[in-house]
Amino acid sequence: MSDAKIIDGKAFAQNVRKRVAKQVEELKHYENLTPGLAVVLVGEDPASQVYVRNKVKQTEECGMKSLEYRRDPDISEQELLTLVQSLNENPEVHGILVQLPLPKHISEEKVIEAIAPEKDVDGFHVINTGLLATGSKDAMVPCTPLGCLMMLKDYFGGSLSGKRAVVVGRSNIVGKPMGALLLNESCTVTTVHSRTVDIEEECRRADILVAAVGRAKMIKADWVKPGAAVIDVGINRIETPDGKTKLVGDVDFDEVVEVAGAITPVPGGVGPMTIACLLANTVTAACRQNKIDEPK
Ligand code: NDP
Repeated sequence: MSDAKIIDGKAFAQNVRKRVAKQVEELKHYENLTPGLAVVLVGEDPASQVYVRNKVKQTEECGMKSLEYRRDPDISEQELLTLVQSLNENPEVHGILVQLPLPKHISEEKVIEAIAPEKDVDGFHVINTGLLATGSKDAMVPCTPLGCLMMLKDYFGGSLSGKRAVVVGRSNIVGKPMGALLLNESCTVTTVHSRTVDIEEECRRADILVAAVGRAKMIKADWVKPGAAVIDVGINRIETPDGKTKLVGDVDFDEVVEVAGAITPVPGGVGPMTIACLLANTVTAACRQNKIDEPK
């Protein structure tokens, strides 16, 4: 039996949502302000439909206003840009999320850059990327890495200063912002990727190991320093011997749990935190746009 702490993302996310709900109640009561989140879904990608449904449900449960815009997959890029522009100008909307991926004929980059940076609750706009990279508190931080950071800070009792952190993966939505966040927390950060030479050796040096790759069970026990905190962002569907399928992370949980000091499971780790952070970002955005302090 291992002594690793299993970080319960589900319970953690529930606490974040409770805090958000309380903040929303206070904003309604004292400021006459109801934070609003607009979610745009183009097409019928089944995974995106599930994500959007959950986002809408949890937004409403927290007492916020949820606006949903479903569009056919053949919508033109210009029509989508016009919709984003109208949301930028809508005072009831404080956060805008365009569910990715978009159909091939639409430039995701153009659409993301069309979102007003102060309403960009996904934190993907270059202005927010730049603010995060320069360590500004004004950045809207991408939800998945923000959730990972919250769990890590909680586990380490607040400070990550001086820890060696290795992030596996360098995507714009997870790996790169995760590295920037950890650097801002004064970790010594290494980012590894598909061209890294001797990736196992790099990982073995980590006090904090974040896996955001998209390869089932890639990270094995002998890649992990004993006692390290392991955060598994990966979501991979694999077939089981009985012909069914199940979700697993990028970390071989059953092996790594024997070595790590703490580990997030899949499912029930990082996943639930992503939506909770989206709701938290929407409250932050609403307060900033109305120039009021965020309720504690
Ligand atoms: P991307 O495919 O955009 O990026 C994957 C990264 O992993 C790339 O930087 C790639 O390197 C690197 N990589 C791929 N293969 C290897 C390898 N063999 N060795 C080392 N590095 C490798 O994925 P995302 O960042 O979008 O997502 C990563 C995972 O996280 C996915 O499973 C996704 O489903 C999940 N995810 C989960 C979320 C959640 O809410 N829990 C939210 C977002 C993502 P290179 O750049 O060199 O190609």
